[in-house]
Order: sequence, then C-alpha cells, then structure tokens
Amino acid sequence: MNKKRMVYLGILFLVATIIMGCTDNSEEGVTEHDQSQAEEEDVDEEVEPSVEETDQTTDEESEEGESVEAIDPASVSANELGQVMVLMYHHIDGPEDTWVRTPENFRKDLEELYERGFRPVSLEDYATGNMEVEPGYKPVVFTFDDGRQNNFNMIENSEGEWEIDPDSAVGILLDFHEEHPDFPLEATFFINGGTPFGQEDLVEYKLNFIVDKGMDIGNHSYTHANFNNLNEEELQYQLGRLNNMVLEYLPDYEMNTLALPFGSRPQNEKLMKFLHQGEYEGISYENIAILEVGWDPYLSPFHKDFDPLKIRRVRASEMDVDGVGMYDWLRHFETGPRVPYISDGSTDTISYPKELEHLLGGNPSHSKTLQPYDSEE
Ligand SMILES: [Zn+2]
Repeated sequence: MNKKRMVYLGILFLVATIIMGCTDNSEEGVTEHDQSQAEEEDVDEEVEPSVEETDQTTDEESEEGESVEAIDPASVSANELGQVMVLMYHHIDGPEDTWVRTPENFRKDLEELYERGFRPVSLEDYATGNMEVEPGYKPVVFTFDDGRQNNFNMIENSEGEWEIDPDSAVGILLDFHEEHPDFPLEATFFINGGTPFGQEDLVEYKLNFIVDKGMDIGNHSYTHANFNNLNEEELQYQLGRLNNMVLEYLPDYEMNTLALPFGSRPQNEKLMKFLHQGEYEGISYENIAILEVGWDPYLSPFHKDFDPLKIRRVRASEMDVDGVGMYDWLRHFETGPRVPYISDGSTDTISYPKELEHLLGGNPSHSKTLQPYDSEE
C-alpha cells in the first residue's frame, strides 16, 4: 500500500514537473530576450533617481496655459510607472509577412488599440516623460523603419493632381485620425539615405508634410549599415550624413531619434557614444532616444531603470512573432504579468499606486509632482 502510494506521489511529482517545465518554456522566449538585452546593457549610464515629492497642487496652469482639472488618480487607476509599447512597423503592403503588415491589418491594429484605450504619443514625449494622454488612457508609440514607399505613397488622380495613397501608412493614419480626433497623429518614420519613401520628385514634399502634421522623421543610418564593426568615422558618417541630408530638406527640423539598423550596436563600448552624439562635415547631431529592434514593452520614463538610449520595441505583427508580438502584449497587459502605463491626464504629475514607489527614479530633468495613492481604497 505504502509502496503504491509512493509510486503515485512519484508520478504526481513527475507530472507537476513536466507541467511547470512547460510553463517555464512558454515564457522562455520572453525571458531569454530579456536576459540577452540585459547582458548587452552597459552599466555606465545609470540614471540617478531624483524625483522629489513636493506639495504643489495639480490644478495649476499647464505649459500651454490651459487650466488642468485635477483628478483623483485612483478613480482612473492611473499608473505612470507602468510600461509603454513602442510599436515597430516596416512595410504596409501585401501580402502579410514577417515584416509586412497589410493596410487592412494596420487599420485593424489602430481600431484595436483605440478600443482598448491606447492613444499615440510622440517618441520624444515618451523619452522625455511629457506624454499628454487623457486620464485613464494608455500611451502607445508608432514607429516605421526603412522609409519605404508604402509608408508614404502619392498617387496621381484623374485630374492629374497628387493625392496621398489611402492605403499607405500615412494615408491610413490620416484617415483614422480624421475619424477619431481623440487619436492624435503621432508617429516617427525612420529613414535612410537615397530616396526616402521613393518618388524622387516628392521627397521634399513628403518630409515637410510629415513634420508639418506634427509627426517625426528619425535616423536609421545613411546606408542601413550594421554598426557592429564600424569605427568612429564610419559611425559619424552613417548618422551625420543622414542628419545633414534631412537638414537640406528641413533646415529647421531637429531630428533627434535613432532606430538601430538590425538593432546593431558597435561592439567596442567606447564607440557607443557616437550613437548618442557626433559630427559630420561640421554639423553635429544628437539623439535623445535610441531604439532597439525587439521584443517587449519598455519601462515608464519615470522608472528608475529607464534608459532613453536603450528603448525596446514591440513587433506590430501577428506573423513569426514568437509570442512577443503586439497582440501578445495586449493580452499580457490585460491579464498580467505586465502592467501598462495609465495616464492621470496631466504632464505635471506622476501618479501611481503607493506600493510601486520603489520603482520610481528617472531623468533628473523631471520636475513633477508625485501623486502616490492607496490602491486598496
Ligand atoms: Zn531597417
């Protein structure tokens, strides 16, 4: 009898081990990526916690001079220490593939994000902790790599006038914003040298259009280079020449974000600083945000470990995403373990449940009023 029981327990144990093992494996994709990312990170850029609690009231005049209505952060479950998805798109075209999102699916993504309470913010506002989002809503960042024509295509109508292709990324974003004015027109297009968005005669028009509409152009290197083995001069050529090219079209525009081509960084740590700042032909560049390729939502700008020069992105796709695509994270945001950033509606305050206080840190330039609240209430 005893022996039987031991065998039974042994089997139970074995089954439990297998089940737990499987669960672990299913998470492994994420964990491994997290680890490899963590290993890549250098430690010399630690951001000192510096945000201090003050007794300012929150219904003061905002930067724009508008009076901001103070809200009870608990009433909207605000959590400004939660995470943010920086979505990474490439082609908007067909058929659907690993790096191709069809126009229909891109529209579906926008609808899905809108319905689930996400609202676009600019990459710069995310990186600097100035995201303007209505109370209770969640920020999301749109990025498009490689400056493909299907990101911003123009077509000639029957009267010989140029129109924005409604199936290109810009066309879809414009239409969606028109139908949903509370879904701001915010996106960054990372371009390379040559003819960004194709159509040589229209490059100037397109770059100006993007910036005029309040969207952004970002640096993706002049030749889409792999940065692994480039030297000091080559890195500055790649980033500086692209920067200078953009200045020729947009003399007043300050391009200040970089998406690493292939997600590659120089192997030599000493060269890392040229991703951040450098100079080419007498003109300097500076990137305040540097984007990786994958794999998961990244930290709140007010989180103690947030590093704007190492922002991770989420693949906005459903194909070959290995469990770390946009829809996977939307699910994880709803059921755990990841927790999304939920805005309190004001850029002057940082609201969060009291028990998350230990996560607080962030950029020394943040001078915000802290609003911890008791989430038990
Ligand atoms: Zn690329």
